[in-house]
Amino acid sequence: MANQYAVIGLGRFGISIAAKLFESGQEVLGVDMNEERVEESHPYVTHSVIADSTDAEALKAIGIRNFDTVVVAIGSDIQASILSVLLVKELGVKNVIAKAINKLHGQVLRKVGADWVVYPERDMGIRVAHHLLSPNVLNFIEISKDHSVEEVKIPSKMVNKTLREIDFRAKYNLSVIAIRNDNEINITPSPDQRIVQGDVLVVIGENKDLERFSKIG
Ligand code: ADP
Repeated sequence: MANQYAVIGLGRFGISIAAKLFESGQEVLGVDMNEERVEESHPYVTHSVIADSTDAEALKAIGIRNFDTVVVAIGSDIQASILSVLLVKELGVKNVIAKAINKLHGQVLRKVGADWVVYPERDMGIRVAHHLLSPNVLNFIEISKDHSVEEVKIPSKMVNKTLREIDFRAKYNLSVIAIRNDNEINITPSPDQRIVQGDVLVVIGENKDLERFSKIG
């Protein structure tokens, strides 16, 4: 069954979340106090309403407590963002995700009950810098302070070699968990699989080892 989502604040961030959820078959209510934003959102949401989320009565009228997850995607108006999270939590919504524009804003959002605070600009900035520093790394997920999973373009000197020949674990202290190219992904690579030009390795390991590996030409 589809989950019920409400996205409050239909700016660039809010509408991207709403559209992706809607595209994936979920029920999405879009909320914004700006009529134009609400009209523009029509193709990307199940329903949308004009409402001020700092008004408890307006939130009750929408039936906000019936939603499984509410995203508060108000950015620049910090006061409205904080008050909206507070009210939505007080009205009983279990899962509230809120966008913060800086660290202090994020701390306050946690205090008033946000279950998950996201920092889209900070995180995207870190990603862009990471890519500039390591152009071979296409994507990464931090899994602890010191460990990550990365998608890395294969260094040219490894083309046409097998994982065994490269001696990944011993030489680089990394594990290859998948190999992908444009058409397919192999999630159980054997030591005798030969990697070819254009392959991307999905590797897991310590950040310092990953960094060393991503610098190999
Ligand atoms: P973005 O950077 O993602 O575009 P903005 O902060 O510019 O984010 O946009 C936030 C949206 O939230 C705007 O469309 C604005 O009308 C809406 N918004 C701001 N305050 C409220 C409020 N109290 N109730 C409902 N919507 C609001």
